Amino acid sequence: MSDIPTVTLPSGISVPALGLGTWQMGEDSRKAEAEIESLKRGLDLGLTLIDTAEMYGEGGAEKITAQAIAGRRDQVFLVSKVYPWNASRKGVVEACERSLDRLKTDRLDLYLLHWRGEHPLTETVAGFEELRRAGKIGAWGVSNFDLDDMLELMEVPDGGNCAANQVLYNLSRRGIEYDLLPWCQERGIPVMAYSPIEQGRLARSGELIRIAKAYQATPAQVALAFLLERDGVIAIPKSANPDRVAENAEAVDLDLSEADWTALDAAFPPPSRKAPLAMI
Ligand code: NDP
Repeated sequence: MSDIPTVTLPSGISVPALGLGTWQMGEDSRKAEAEIESLKRGLDLGLTLIDTAEMYGEGGAEKITAQAIAGRRDQVFLVSKVYPWNASRKGVVEACERSLDRLKTDRLDLYLLHWRGEHPLTETVAGFEELRRAGKIGAWGVSNFDLDDMLELMEVPDGGNCAANQVLYNLSRRGIEYDLLPWCQERGIPVMAYSPIEQGRLARSGELIRIAKAYQATPAQVALAFLLERDGVIAIPKSANPDRVAENAEAVDLDLSEADWTALDAAFPPPSRKAPLAMI
């Protein structure tokens, strides 16, 4: 397998363009072993970015992540997220401390506001900046921010330090290509594509099954190859099955023909007008 391509953050740090999601992990103790094994398998294969959140399993996913990264914290680029209702200046700092406890680490590499809530962005950014100065986080960013939210963020003190925007993006959800994605690309703010396989649904798409067959590939790999083709995009598929994690990693070797890219555009057309940012 080839090396995993990388995306550069505004700080100059390179992270893999393919990482590991953790939503729905840490919810059922009978599944814990497979979840930990899957994350470890991903790390072994170079998928060294793990995306988690205080929301996932109400802290359970962070605890699973702690077990997967034990003894190899320095190899991992660790991302977590704060609930919007915890995103006051003081609340952000306290929520981060709780996440660090669950993750059994002293720092997050990237800390995201999970979605916009009631707390003013100035407060949230001030909390993030405090954490950054204290070395508790390497960088901060946002999630589920549409272009107007990003423009507002840029007007807030230190808002320009935003290091990523994590949004719903996959072949069947191409809305951000109209405005948000090019805006982020121009500014060097990576877009983290969540639900890159549309929560498994793209793995059952007839068109993807057809294209994948010609390459002895799988439909999930085609869905991921679509995102890997884009500049400044980091895809974070989730799987609690180690073999599927390996399958997803091998998407980096899939090289589609021009005719197949055209067929994908026909089946999943890019946007022709602005639509509000979709969310899951
Ligand atoms: P994904 O698109 O990653 O799909 C996950 C689903 O697809 C699971 O059911 C998984 O099942 C299945 N799957 C994974 N690989 C394959 C494969 N190769 N073939 C067939 N099925 C497969 O959806 P998610 O919603 O989980 O998104 C990924 C991550 O993005 C999340 O885990 C989370 O970290 C983040 N996220 C962030 C959000 C935000 O608001 N910021 C919102 C949603 C997600 P199995 O585990 O059994 O393999």
